[in-house]
Order: sequence, then structure tokens, then C-alpha cells
Amino acid sequence: MCDDSSQIVSLAQASKFENAIRLKDRALLPGLINAHSHAFQRVIRGRTEYRTANTRDSFWTWREMMYSAATRLTPEDIYDAARMAFLEMALSGITAVGEFHYLHHGPDGTPYEDPNLLAKEVVRAAQDVGLRIALLRVAYARSGYESEPNPQQIRFIEKDPETYLRNLEQLSKDLGRTNDRPHATAWVGTAPHSVRAVPLDYLRQVIQFADERELPVHMHLAEQQAEVSACIQEYGRSPVALLATEGLLGERFTGIHSIHVTPKAIAMLAAARAMICACPTTERNLGDGIVPVDSFFKQGLRVALGTDSHVEIDLLEDARELEYHLRLQKMERAVLGSAEDSGMSAIAVRLFASATVSGAESIDAPGGTLEPGRPADFFTVDLNDPSIAGASEDDLLSSIVFALSKTAVKDVVVGGNRIVEDGRHAQQEEIIERFKKLQKKLWG
Ligand SMILES: [Zn+2]
Repeated sequence: MCDDSSQIVSLAQASKFENAIRLKDRALLPGLINAHSHAFQRVIRGRTEYRTANTRDSFWTWREMMYSAATRLTPEDIYDAARMAFLEMALSGITAVGEFHYLHHGPDGTPYEDPNLLAKEVVRAAQDVGLRIALLRVAYARSGYESEPNPQQIRFIEKDPETYLRNLEQLSKDLGRTNDRPHATAWVGTAPHSVRAVPLDYLRQVIQFADERELPVHMHLAEQQAEVSACIQEYGRSPVALLATEGLLGERFTGIHSIHVTPKAIAMLAAARAMICACPTTERNLGDGIVPVDSFFKQGLRVALGTDSHVEIDLLEDARELEYHLRLQKMERAVLGSAEDSGMSAIAVRLFASATVSGAESIDAPGGTLEPGRPADFFTVDLNDPSIAGASEDDLLSSIVFALSKTAVKDVVVGGNRIVEDGRHAQQEEIIERFKKLQKKLWG
């Protein structure tokens, strides 16, 4: 039951178990929280799956292809691409997204009259689809340590922290009432891109600003070995050690990826109560490596999930990949479980918490769980869908986490508004048509 402001005041006592409510032919679950997205990258899906002229393809060769799209998009294109990505998120049960937004300027690097024009196009796309959005505005100062400027990064760069912080502050003001708690629909966070792209002094100022205003801080961290080596070369420390020794980690800090980290670095992240955001469907697509999430959980770290490059959009696939990648690596099963677990899968409970509660904490979203005082953000799944039919009460959550097909998602509700009804979104055809036109324009 909800009050007038669509806040949950009480929950029906229809068989409630571990964060899901079982109704007759439906299960009702808290909306999934996608903590890391680059919405515009939806335009390159399926277009980078071949070998280039290089002898060895990698994240870095993929990035050149991604940049070739990023340099060409108009504000309207960005709206259309973002709406497509957000539609697919809504249809898969996602109710809030953390958008790691780094396209700021026009194609020639000149700021738009409103320096937040593109950020606002992304926010408008999320609002038109009906998702909550944390616009994690990216600080990007340089190509890298002792690297020549890369002309393809010209749309991202705000060279000095004053410009970046002024624009961030203005964006937060312009979002106005949407920022209001506890029903925020669009709000800002800070996102210093990486230790590669943001020098230490700049980073200190951004984090100080975030601390003063209690904003989330998201940062790409140790996705690639090369970025760890460059950091050691510049500062004599790994990225995590640099952040820890400079006092820049904290409870509102989320390290995106965090793949190439040592046990010592993991202990530093845990001591600071920082968070991790893993993006396994993207990480496997890019050949980044495997997130050591077993070590993270052992140290009590909270792990959120993101669909990142949108090679596919299915956050429960990201959840199950956390476990599956470790199984392949270690050649054993149930890596994230423990001998004390019995009955319902503790692995499923843990992975589902990553897709909900931890994501909400990471991007400071109001949802994440179904409990009184929280907004009514949830989705329902059809218990007769072939992917989960026949699941018992005890194994329903692990059936959902390990096997749910997106076709089983029937209703998606954000703040009491039903944005997906019987598996369909009201603007679905129009969004897809516009996106098809955009793809034709970009790629012929
Ligand atoms: Zn990313």
C-alpha cells in the first residue's frame, strides 16, 4: 500500500521472502539499480565485434572505435541513443540508473552555450522513459600521464577544476526540485574519470567538493593493467594505494571495475568502506579480466552492478556473471557461497542485493528495497514464463537470478507510475523508430 506521494507505507503479507513478494502468478521485486552506464555507447552495439588491423585487439582498440561514434553525435542524437538504452533498461526491470556522463562539448571541443546541454539531454531521456537518474558528471582533464592530447577526447575535457565544479554546481541547481529527497528523480554526483585522466590536485578538489555536499563519487579504477602501470610510474603507487594514502576514499566512493587489484589494495578499499561497481558483461566483452568479487565479499565490501557499454542490457546477467566468471577461473562451483548456507541460495541473495540495495547506495538512489518509507519502485515477473516456471518458494530467487529471461518482466513501476505494462512501454515504437534512424545516419 502506498500513500499519496507513492511512498510505501505497508506491504501485503502475501508470502514475503528475501526481498521478493510472491503473488498468484507473479513475483514482485524491488527495481534493479544500474549503477554504471554510458548511454550513448548503445549506438556501437554489435559494431565492434571483429578483429581490426592490429595484431591484438583489446579495450584500447575498442576505445578508438567507440570514440569514432562519440565525436559525431549531436545533442538530439544523444537524446535518442540514451532513450533507447533507458527503454531497454526499463523493460528489463531497472528503475534507476547512474549515468557516467563525459560528453560535454560540441564536436570541435567548444562548450555549448549551456555547458550542461548534453547532460540535460540524457536526463530528459531518462525522465521521458520514466527512470530515476543520477547524472554522474565526469571530470576529464587529460589523455594520461606524459601522453599527448588525443583529439578524439576533445568533447570531454574541462582542463581546470574550477570550470568543472562551476558546471556541476549549475547542473545541480538547474535540476531543481528533481533533486529533492526522498523522491528524487534526477540528481547529480561527481565522477573523476580515472587516475589516468584526472591529475591528483584536480582530483583532491573534486573529492573535497563532493564531501562538502555529500555527493556520490564514481571513478573508473584498475580496469586495465596499463592504467595501473602508468599510475605506478607517475606516483610510485597503484591507483588504490594512491587514493588511500591521499585520504580520497570513503563511504560515498565507488570504484568502477576494480579488476587489477592486490589483496593489500582490497583491504584498503574495505578499511575506507568504499564500494565497488562491477560490470561483467562489458568486462568480458572487452577482455578486461575477472572481478575478484569473492575477495571483496570476504572483506565485507559492497558490490554494485552496471551495464556500462551496453553490449547487452540485462543486469541479472551481470549478477550471475560475477559468480560464473569465478567458476571458470577456479574450476569449481558455488564460489560465492559458504558451507554454513542452507536452504535458499545465499549466493542468489547476495547477487540480488548487488543488483538492488548496493546499487542504490552507490548512486544515492531512493529505491533498492521494498520497505515502508521507500518509494514504490518495483517490477513484476511472470511465474509462468518458461525461464522460471515451476520454481518453488525456496528456489524462486535463485531461479530469477540465474535464469530469468527478460521476457518474464511484466510491470515496472517507478514512484508509483507504471512505466512498463504487460512487458511494453507506451513510447516503445517511437523510441525504436527514432533510434533506427539515428543508426542509419551514423553507419549508413
Ligand atoms: Zn565505464
